[in-house]
Amino acid sequence: MAGDGAAVRLRDVVKVFGKKVRALRGVSFEVPRGAIYGILGPNGAGKTTTLRIIATLVRHDSGYVEVLGHRLPDERNLVRGRISYLPEDAGLYHRLTGWENLLYFAMIYSDTLEEARRMAELGVKLSGLSERDIHRKASEYSKGMARRVALARALMVGAELVLLDEPTSGLDVFSAYSIRKIIKNFAKSSGATVLMSSHNMLEVEELCDRVILINKGSIVAEGEPAELKERAGAANLEEAFIKLVGGVS
Ligand code: ATP
Repeated sequence: MAGDGAAVRLRDVVKVFGKKVRALRGVSFEVPRGAIYGILGPNGAGKTTTLRIIATLVRHDSGYVEVLGHRLPDERNLVRGRISYLPEDAGLYHRLTGWENLLYFAMIYSDTLEEARRMAELGVKLSGLSERDIHRKASEYSKGMARRVALARALMVGAELVLLDEPTSGLDVFSAYSIRKIIKNFAKSSGATVLMSSHNMLEVEELCDRVILINKGSIVAEGEPAELKERAGAANLEEAFIKLVGGVS
């Protein structure tokens, strides 16, 4: 149970939406504590569903899910305060400044205003926004700036497990680069476990210790990026993915 090394443990997890949409068809994997894992797959592969099950937001239909040593959904209340989830479409309160967004969120996680301030200060540091920018209204932010604040908000709370759903989607190369840098520095300094989804092979290759390739609700392969490339006889992860999935459909 807790402390035995796995932050996340999934066995034969099935999720069906409605009567027909088999989002997950028996997914099994483990993420050791302190690792950065990537879930990679095309649209509709089941990445968000997997993350939302682990984040205690969606109940699986069958199979076994354990997060930080606790079984879901029964023990979800023992997990919720220890994880953090950044949805793909995570937004900010537009009328508030970046700082106010961080402080507002920090207050939910803190017992005192002082504690909340310290947490929000950490958020500012993580976001990398200048003193001037962090005090601008979120409505004035570029997409990249907004994402940096949203990411900082998810990282600053001291979660043991951080779940990031496509943290760089829709961002230009510069913004995506700074987001990756934030994640990398955070993982190195905090020792937290990070599980992130992505479409971006380069990103996953650069950031993740191991990658889980998922397609149509099933895991196609899992391994270190280099190992997957070698297994598929591919020059890069993109080519490996296409080969392992069985071609372009
Ligand atoms: P994307 O990269 O496009 O975000 P994804 O890999 O995250 O895709 P999911 O969002 O997990 O994929 O979706 C997996 C399947 O489950 C898709 O067919 C999707 O339409 C379906 N699905 C997801 N959530 C729901 C829901 N709440 N109700 C019905 N179907 C859903």
